[in-house]
Amino acid sequence: MFKLNTLQTCAAAAAALALLYSGLLFWGGMPGTSSMPGTDPGPPVARADSPPAPEPAGGNAPAVEDQPLFEGNINSLPPETIVKLLAFLDSPIAGATIQMTDGQLPGAPRPHRNGIHQGIDYYHGFSGVPIRAGTEVLAAADGLVIRIDHDFTELTPEQHAAYRRLSVQAPDTPAEILDKFRGRQVWLKHRGQVITRYAHLDEVATDLSAGDLVYAGRQIGTVGNSGTSQAAAGIPGEDHLHFEIWLNEFYLGEGLPPDDIRYILRGILE
Ligand SMILES: [Zn+2]
Repeated sequence: MFKLNTLQTCAAAAAALALLYSGLLFWGGMPGTSSMPGTDPGPPVARADSPPAPEPAGGNAPAVEDQPLFEGNINSLPPETIVKLLAFLDSPIAGATIQMTDGQLPGAPRPHRNGIHQGIDYYHGFSGVPIRAGTEVLAAADGLVIRIDHDFTELTPEQHAAYRRLSVQAPDTPAEILDKFRGRQVWLKHRGQVITRYAHLDEVATDLSAGDLVYAGRQIGTVGNSGTSQAAAGIPGEDHLHFEIWLNEFYLGEGLPPDDIRYILRGILE
């Protein structure tokens, strides 16, 4: 079952009030502009001509497109700069730390599908907190839901094997096959055109739809193993969160050495 505990509900209510009060949300501009909380004095009371504040969840988000946080490949910047730019992101699993081996990081080879890993794998035993099927997965920042897989059908073992064969024969894992291997997913779009993806989910929040706004820390799903060969075979195992951060068609960590990636991830997510 999907439920919010009291603490989360209080936090959610506080966040919702903050959003409603600011009326500007995070699309207001680049970090450091007047839309940042605490820097914009704002009107003391809502004026009659104020635009209606969007609903934090359940309403349709305005299709406001702000400027990318950075033009081009964010991985070309010094690691310290990347950390500063993405510091608004938090861990998608409460209290999790970055202890990942190289193979759990972006850029790791995936020979079984002739491809490259584009995300971060939060496994039990490598993340400082228990991670099991059903562990809560949280929005890494305020964002707009751009994909949430309510209708999801697990691959059969035959389909999974067939996709793997096709993938190995291709020069790189084809995008549509990689999408199958990510299983049940949620994608969020944040300020500065940053996108986060949450994959292999067991469940997704039943009360969220594409177009909804979520605030940082809001539960969007639970850890699972969807999309893995274990899930296709209907057997337990491989439960973990696969988490990706994207900007301008580049995933965070693309082409970087593992030590730099760990430094960046610790800087932004811990
Ligand atoms: Zn992964």
